[in-house]
Amino acid sequence: MLVWFAEASQGVDEHDKRRVGEQIEPGGRPKAPGRLELLQRFVNSYNHDFPPEWDRIGTPERARAWLRQKRLVAPGDPISDADAARLRELREAIRALALANHGEQPAAAATDVVRRAAGTAALRVAVDESGRTALEPEARGVDGAVATLLGILHEAQRAGQWPRLKGCRQCGYAFFDRSKNRSAAWCAMSICGNRTKNRAYYRRRRISET
Ligand SMILES: [Zn+2]
Repeated sequence: MLVWFAEASQGVDEHDKRRVGEQIEPGGRPKAPGRLELLQRFVNSYNHDFPPEWDRIGTPERARAWLRQKRLVAPGDPISDADAARLRELREAIRALALANHGEQPAAAATDVVRRAAGTAALRVAVDESGRTALEPEARGVDGAVATLLGILHEAQRAGQWPRLKGCRQCGYAFFDRSKNRSAAWCAMSICGNRTKNRAYYRRRRISET
């Protein structure tokens, strides 16, 4: 399962690999625009081709550090095992929605998870001195973080940006598709595109040999 890992490792040290999803994008793609970048980073807090211990929200401690760094929780906000688990569940459900942006219907289980999370995610309209409005979470802690992330999902859908945030067909990595006809299928052609093609090639060859 560590193909991405192995192929991406050519000329890249572990330090760099651990930065994929935060400071480094596969194939050097630009990140998603505006606040959608935060949701993209949330989905990419783990890549399934990397070792499980690299999951940035894999434990309550790691989740707290990640959420603090993104200012999604305040210092001292408690994060339990169950909180970290539901964040990971939400992450995989949003990944499923991004995968469905290749033109498919997302699995009902994924939309159920997002709907359930939205049930406790209260947002209010905040107004600043110049009259500009923004959606802000009502609650603190993980509930507030979930509300912020779902608010971004909603705003991106309203702005028409969401259909371009896709899950890589090979590794599930969330990338922003800037191609004119929205046809990109993989996080990076050089990594996952070739893997997919090689597999198809070997499959065809196997069939022709039998
Ligand atoms: Zn990929």
